[in-house]
Amino acid sequence: MFADILLPIPFDSFTYLVPTTLQPTRDLRGCRVVVPFGKNKIYTGIVLRTHNQQPQGIEVKEILEILDEQPIVNEQQFTFWQWIAHYYLCPLGDVMKAALPGALKPKDDKALRATTPKRTSKGSPCSDAVAASLLSLPPLSPLSSPQQTALIQIQSSFSQKDITLLHGVTSSGKTEIYTHLIHNYLQQGKQVLYLLPEIALTTQITERLRRIFGDTMGVYHSKFSDRQRLDVYLRQASPHPYQLILGVRSSVFLPFQNLGLVIVDEEHEQSYKQQEPAPRYNARNAAIMLAHQFGAKTLLGTATPSFEVYHLAHKHRYGYVQLTQRYRDMQLPTIEIVDTKEAKRKRLMKGLFSPRLIEAMRTALDHHEQIILFQNRRGFARFIECRQCGWVPHCPHCDVTLTLHKKTSTLTCHYCGYTAPIPTHCPACTPPSQTSLSSPQSFSLPSPKASLSSSHPALGGFPAQTFSEVGTGTERIEAQIATLFPQATTLRMDLDTARTRSQYERIISDFSTHQADILIGTQMVTKGLDFDNVSVVGILDADTMLNLPDFRSYERTFQTLSQVAGRAGRNKTPGLVILQTRSADSDIIHQITQGDYWQMFYTQMQERQLFQYPPFCRLIYVYLRHRDDRLLDHLASDMGDRLRAVFGDRVLGPDRPPIARIQSLYIRKLMLKIELNAPIDRVRQALTTIQQQILSLPVAKNLNIYYDVDPL
Ligand code: ADP
Ligand code: ZN
Ligand code: ZN
Repeated sequence: MFADILLPIPFDSFTYLVPTTLQPTRDLRGCRVVVPFGKNKIYTGIVLRTHNQQPQGIEVKEILEILDEQPIVNEQQFTFWQWIAHYYLCPLGDVMKAALPGALKPKDDKALRATTPKRTSKGSPCSDAVAASLLSLPPLSPLSSPQQTALIQIQSSFSQKDITLLHGVTSSGKTEIYTHLIHNYLQQGKQVLYLLPEIALTTQITERLRRIFGDTMGVYHSKFSDRQRLDVYLRQASPHPYQLILGVRSSVFLPFQNLGLVIVDEEHEQSYKQQEPAPRYNARNAAIMLAHQFGAKTLLGTATPSFEVYHLAHKHRYGYVQLTQRYRDMQLPTIEIVDTKEAKRKRLMKGLFSPRLIEAMRTALDHHEQIILFQNRRGFARFIECRQCGWVPHCPHCDVTLTLHKKTSTLTCHYCGYTAPIPTHCPACTPPSQTSLSSPQSFSLPSPKASLSSSHPALGGFPAQTFSEVGTGTERIEAQIATLFPQATTLRMDLDTARTRSQYERIISDFSTHQADILIGTQMVTKGLDFDNVSVVGILDADTMLNLPDFRSYERTFQTLSQVAGRAGRNKTPGLVILQTRSADSDIIHQITQGDYWQMFYTQMQERQLFQYPPFCRLIYVYLRHRDDRLLDHLASDMGDRLRAVFGDRVLGPDRPPIARIQSLYIRKLMLKIELNAPIDRVRQALTTIQQQILSLPVAKNLNIYYDVDPL
């Protein structure tokens, strides 16, 4: 007997012989096995299928050991994996790596054989008992009448359509509606998957749901330990699974048994899409697929729908339910525009602060109310520049400028993490004898132990006479507040201060107990946080987002800024949002201040249609990566030609992406615009064939090709 086995490497599967000595008395599909690989490697892998077809022309190795008594991957999961691999154009081996929790993940390390997990026997009550135990839980909060209406509309929509969009303004009480819906499904003995973006899955929401659903709920989070994730995984595969899973993106890969409902909260969130590594899947779309496999219903919730989803709701492919009022009829915050072009001309700006914002902040502080400031860039300055010659330090491994971080006195690459101390002199225009830096082009600083010792005067200070600071990040905002409002206390939330989950939750809890007056943050402050006492939200610079070279930049800015604005006045205090922009007269700014989603959607969709962008077509990006820029040029245009021979003018490029080198690998991008009704199977077939042709060229050794389907 032979077995096709998935290994933790980017290939579909490998065939091995099942030796009779192992006496496999059962079907091995879904079981882990140990196999030799190459000259002297040992891998664990998962059996995809067994058969009796001897592979031709290759030497077949034998399986060394079978690790599981029972499969750890079920049929439904295999089907789902295959869909992911197929749709997102990636090898099954990569899907398997993403799908299994650490402890079950096949490794290239034989030592891990010992860790065959024990199955948790501690079972949860079966469905009748679940229903009974729900009765003993504290009752749900009664819904307001708009919420009640929305719930009924959702249920009636579910009787006709598999997928429904709940479009409810921030603070309309969507979560409360979800809990009622979940309760219904659990009572019918159905399982529910409740997906949240990584960063929105806080203790706040977990505890809120724990109080209602108690032990019937399991939480699945990527920041949990391997052990915790393994426990949830095994329990879902056991006869007594959790009935409700609250989880992030990767929980679509858990085993389910009788899934009845999937809720995707903050459906529009970009972070549902996995960017790196493969599979580059969108968990919202994958969840819809998963629900479909089970004949389950999907509810997509958001205040600012993605165009993809809203478009389908508009065309009645998805059901649509709207909530236009906040809970208890709280007013939506007033959004006031401040024209910074004008203020700048009159020299009224203090750093990034306009007089109007300063005044609003002062009033709030006088009333002991809190403030959130949003600036979508971390660090102190975007880059530094020599005052003499204009030299700007770049990352030696990537095509980007280094960001100034004053707190740590470093220059950091936000793409690869490369970090260097701030130079004391400009290496480009100061004679080498006076500087410790050699090469002006590549700013590859000597390692710290070489010439910049820790006692160097540059460390801990910034040579302001030599370099000017360009652009403003959250750190610089913090410094500006210290001069503008010396009495105010601040917290900063960005990738530097909230690297870990506990740091992140600490900031949230400190701010909600008013340990600080002002919270300064990046995107991170936009995600569903619920603070009672925030009366002012300041958006320091709306333009950087609007001006990004991306066809989605207006949609994104609308979503992000509406979400930020929604943090204001969530309780007793009516909210005020000060939006600073240089394009005060633009349509998009007007649409944001009016909260006019429809107008924004309508105007943007006309452009999307005109230039053929999603949701009017499907995009596939083809990436090629190689160390050698010139060779890559050649290979990318070769691939472009071959693609054009099949797809014609649906192919654009190859181009250098905005950041054309990351971690010393050069990058080229080809874009494919495919009609929505095009047969995706044939597209996939053609792409795979061309990929194989290119990779089999002798010069293409070490070339890496990968795809991003429905890129975000
Ligand atoms: P959304 O998810 O739409 O932004 P939430 O569900 O977080 O809104 O609700 C906003 C606030 O209103 C929360 O503090 C929540 O506790 C409260 N709330 C909403 N609906 C109810 C209800 N039916 N009973 C009591 N409180 C509610
Ligand atoms: Zn210089
Ligand atoms: Zn870098």
